Amino acid sequence: MDWSAFEDSWLAPYAMRSLNSRGRKHLEEPHPFRTIFQRDRERIVHCSAFRRLMGKTQVLVGTINDHHRTRLTHTLEVAQISRTIARRLRLNEDLTEAIALSHDLGHPPFGHAGEATLDDCIRDQGGFDHNLYGLRRVDELEERYPDFPGLNLAWEVREAFVQHSRRPVPPEWRDFREVGGPLLEAQVVDAADSVAYDTHDSDDALDIGLITLHDLERVEMWRRVAGQVRDRYPHLRDDPLRRAIIRELIAWQVNDLLAETERRLQEKRIGSVEDVRRSMEPLVGFGPEMCRLKTELEGYLREVVYRHDQVLRMAHKGQTILRALFGWFASRPELLPGRHLRRWVDAPAALVRTEPSTLAQACALPAESIERVVVDYLAGMTDRFAQQEFRRLFQPDGDQ
Ligand code: MG
Repeated sequence: MDWSAFEDSWLAPYAMRSLNSRGRKHLEEPHPFRTIFQRDRERIVHCSAFRRLMGKTQVLVGTINDHHRTRLTHTLEVAQISRTIARRLRLNEDLTEAIALSHDLGHPPFGHAGEATLDDCIRDQGGFDHNLYGLRRVDELEERYPDFPGLNLAWEVREAFVQHSRRPVPPEWRDFREVGGPLLEAQVVDAADSVAYDTHDSDDALDIGLITLHDLERVEMWRRVAGQVRDRYPHLRDDPLRRAIIRELIAWQVNDLLAETERRLQEKRIGSVEDVRRSMEPLVGFGPEMCRLKTELEGYLREVVYRHDQVLRMAHKGQTILRALFGWFASRPELLPGRHLRRWVDAPAALVRTEPSTLAQACALPAESIERVVVDYLAGMTDRFAQQEFRRLFQPDGDQ
């Protein structure tokens, strides 16, 4: 069976069909058997920004142990949870997965501390936002195809970056917002993101020893799940107990989300993608009690884990590194790699050393200020690369 026929037979009426996509910026022949969203999902997995997620901080900078989350494993957890929800709601799983796999591509090194630093560096030029950078990354900065810059993703996957950003977006991206509210597939990823980080940030904090199981008893959501698990498995202690609680926490949130979302879809009589676009309120969401419990857990994580001195130390170190690298490259643009330097609007011809790798990239990449070019270069780095670069530049015995 042709995949579009399968979509017609399986998807709910409010799911996005691949054939109804607004398509790509640069025209391409359709694939003989993969839909536009299936191709996008695979393009994302093959791009270098995706591989670099492995070396980027989620909450904890660097290698504290070999098993805490990185942005890559976080992304895979979000994709997995999103897929489960999308399948259950009969949404477009391929689109959901493409959005989930790309949702954190624009995060700079050193987590939120890194983002705040880069934002500061170019505050007077509109600042830095990881969603909008993610879109530039997939639209322009990835170099993989001879015929066009970036990954040339479908409109609906690109839209998710802009819908997710809380900043007023530049005029050329405004049409993304003019279509109305986000698709259900994008809303699912947003909710799955919060299921994943609320749960795994607690898990990592316990594993690393920033908090104890006893500390988390202060949090009602944790206390209730822990009580149920202890009733069922009275012999469980320590790590096995923690893992059982984590599993239950995910299942509870997902079940709550499914029930509440189905209720909203029914109550608001959502029967088409147009209805989804017109809806002023989010349609995918948790019930009021779960919202309250999650808010309490997030407050606890913010207060105790994200502000733990061990986390703050690493965050400050990351900020120092990024500030120093920004100052260094912004005042010495000739030291930037050639493909970044070429994007600088005032680059004297003598400085642009290398030929553009493809004609498409030479024509399509917009010229930028040197500060924006440097921030884009830094945002693409992994934590480890930024640390190495700092050592190379600022330590007298650093390698070249
Ligand atoms: Mg995320």
